[in-house]
Amino acid sequence: MADGVTRPATTPVSEQRNARGEWRPSYPIRYAPLFTQPSNLKAMGKWIFGWPGFLWPVNLSLLLISVVSWYLTQPDIARCTTFEFGWIAQIWLRNQVMMWLYYGFFHWWLYMRKGEGLRKKYDSHWPATKSRLFLFGDQVYDNVFWTAGVAGLIWTGYEVVTVWLYANGHIPWLMWAEHPVWFVAWFFIIPLWREFHFYWVHRLIHWKPLYKHVHYLHHKNSNPNAWSGMAMHPVETILYLSVCLIHWVVPSHPIHFLFDLQHAALGPANGHHGYEGPIIKDKVPTGSYFHYLHHRYFECNYGESTVPLDRWFGTFRDGLPDGEGSKLKEEHKF
Ligand SMILES: [Zn+2]
Ligand SMILES: [Zn+2]
Repeated sequence: MADGVTRPATTPVSEQRNARGEWRPSYPIRYAPLFTQPSNLKAMGKWIFGWPGFLWPVNLSLLLISVVSWYLTQPDIARCTTFEFGWIAQIWLRNQVMMWLYYGFFHWWLYMRKGEGLRKKYDSHWPATKSRLFLFGDQVYDNVFWTAGVAGLIWTGYEVVTVWLYANGHIPWLMWAEHPVWFVAWFFIIPLWREFHFYWVHRLIHWKPLYKHVHYLHHKNSNPNAWSGMAMHPVETILYLSVCLIHWVVPSHPIHFLFDLQHAALGPANGHHGYEGPIIKDKVPTGSYFHYLHHRYFECNYGESTVPLDRWFGTFRDGLPDGEGSKLKEEHKF
């Protein structure tokens, strides 16, 4: 996601592409100034409250989606004490609508309307068609099948079970009136917890046997598009969305749980759409060269750009030819 990447606004955008048709920013990927040493409070404050920054636009937009979906589309908790078709279907449908709107928006603007053309598109190729690598011979159809079809079901499964647990008082419920500080703190912690969880799950599925049988499917998308975001083997999706299991143990409100899971389920659209932000008349800061490099080079940048886990564990690549981590392999045979 773009939320942690600091990009100098004045840097001229080079339209140069290499012989393979790849475009890269002329500036390195930088981590958010949260864990940098020595710590810089001014930079940290600017990053938290500035645009683009930690809060705006990605995290607060996703929080807004969670609040709206909690108040307007969540089945009444009293109905959820037993598993019944009605409220389960309601959650599935709500999640489908959110996915089609969120992923669909990026797909429509970037790949149907071609609103940016190839400008700042990391890979000059459009998604594959007539390719035996993908289901239905088409990368986008394949990606939609795994993202909206399969991941949409698994996401709903986690929600159904967890809402049932909340409704029956089997997991702790944190109330705003009793713990207002914790209530707010959760919203700051969740994006960081997500990065931490994602990094380790991702390292795990790059373990050869799991890569060969599970994670290979996501990596078919060496040229990702928005719908590649959750195009994962079901085992990977189950591991990836297990980020929400923290709410089974640590007291939280269902709205924290919803935010956590919606962040995990919708956020990948930002990280996979294949363009350097900001997009739409240079106004909307979204896109992740950080994660694109993982799709391109496989063995770097397993995490995200706020918590510098890749730097701490020696897997960071900043994107410049002679930059940090450039010793990583140029090619990975798929
Ligand atoms: Zn990915
Ligand atoms: Zn990977």
